[in-house]
Amino acid sequence: MILFENKKDCCGCGACYNACPKNAISMQEDDCGYIYPVIDSELCVECGKCSQVCAFQNHTETNTPQKVYAAAVKDNDVIMNSSSGGIFTALADYVIENGGIVFGAAFDSDWNVKHIAVKSKEQLRYLRGSKYTQSSTGTSFRQVRELLNAGKLVLYSGTPCQIAGLKGFLGKEYDSLLTVDLVCHGVPNNRMLRDYIKFLEQKENGKVLKYLFRDKSMGWGKNGSVVIESSDGKRYRKKLWESASSYPYYFAVSLICRENCYSCRYACENRPGDITLGDFWGIEKTHPQYLNDNSIDDTKGISVVIANNEKGNNYLQNISSAVELRPSDYESASSGNERLRHGSKYSPKRDEILDIYKAGGWSAVDKYHSKSVGLKKHTSFAKSLIPPAIKRYLKGR
Ligand SMILES: Cc1cc2nc3c(=O)[nH]c(=O)nc-3n(C[C@H](O)[C@H](O)[C@H](O)COP(=O)(O)OP(=O)(O)OC[C@H]3O[C@@H](n4cnc5c(N)ncnc54)[C@H](O)[C@@H]3O)c2cc1C
Ligand code: SF4
Ligand code: SF4
Ligand code: SF4
Repeated sequence: MILFENKKDCCGCGACYNACPKNAISMQEDDCGYIYPVIDSELCVECGKCSQVCAFQNHTETNTPQKVYAAAVKDNDVIMNSSSGGIFTALADYVIENGGIVFGAAFDSDWNVKHIAVKSKEQLRYLRGSKYTQSSTGTSFRQVRELLNAGKLVLYSGTPCQIAGLKGFLGKEYDSLLTVDLVCHGVPNNRMLRDYIKFLEQKENGKVLKYLFRDKSMGWGKNGSVVIESSDGKRYRKKLWESASSYPYYFAVSLICRENCYSCRYACENRPGDITLGDFWGIEKTHPQYLNDNSIDDTKGISVVIANNEKGNNYLQNISSAVELRPSDYESASSGNERLRHGSKYSPKRDEILDIYKAGGWSAVDKYHSKSVGLKKHTSFAKSLIPPAIKRYLKGR
């Protein structure tokens, strides 16, 4: 049994792993830490279920946008602890209030990101906030099926390929399942993130207690922070500037994503979820009027929210008292958000970074990054010394 010929044909969603009746599949890290299914041929009975459920390779039906909004949750604590406008929490609150269970990505104690099930509003803090690495779905697809078959209401959130994977695994529609996919840039892997955190700990001679990929105390932007406890017991916050910190930088410039992310079929209007959530970048240009009345605040975060079908739009109407919801359209939402138009672009530099990582671990990658950032600084300084007339001459050659 062969599940894929090429790494670009597997997103690591784990649908095959969840579907195997013989537990013959395990999800294993490759030499760089990306997870792939591996079949134990001793246990496999060649039933073909694993390849039948693979939505990434089989053509699966997708939705198209019905309604597009700019939105922000009204609760100040929630929005300040969410990456964008906090709409995920408003949807999750509604599902929990109605006796449902919410699945999403949370850190474990070793800085791995895993999908977990949450039943109370209090526990939603584990899911809030983006973790820019691949979350392991584990056996969550099986758990969802059991809950749905028991008549429970379920919200499942994740990257579009995880939502497509869940749907492929379930093989049929359920009225009591709400799926939320995220606008997605691509995913690095857990091993890289763990190694980066270990590297920070060694550099700071302390322990990382908290990792925020997006820290709203610095405004609604793309910079994060870590809380560190030093060896003498002092706690402090260290900012992780996207351009100056190696992991955030290589994530942002798409040099450490999974191979299949460079040909992602979901970075467009056809979405697998009932609702799509992302950042409404560029709202000051597309809808400046929404910022004038201060009801949505671009220093705290604004979501792009897409109802991909009637179910999605009904849920958005149900949470309308908890959120500021303003009408928009796909063109406006995607004009400032590349990932609604196309996926991340592959660069051969990715292979160079991965080779450095394989040979010397994250400290070697960080060293390489510091050198190239330094080099860029020198180059721009040197460029600033060239007189404008010479610059024009050089450009015209
Ligand atoms: C890997 C990744 C890449 C993204 N890339 C973009 C982008 O390029 N452009 C853009 O506009 N938006 C992107 N987003 C989405 C954005 O960062 C917010 O997650 C989204 O707007 C929801 O924000 P919120 O304020 O409603 O909720 P938040 O509370 O900020 O988000 C929580 C939700 O994110 C989910 N989540 C967090 N980490 C992961 C993970 N690793 N895997 C799966 N689900 C996860 C949780 O399960 C929960 O559903 C990305 C998100 C992730 C996880
Ligand atoms: S089901 Fe998911 S993990 Fe399995 S082969 Fe397909 S894409 Fe890969
Ligand atoms: S063919 Fe059947 S038994 Fe073999 S790995 Fe796939 S699902 Fe499991
Ligand atoms: S970019 Fe596409 S393939 Fe990669 S994690 Fe996101 S949705 Fe999945």
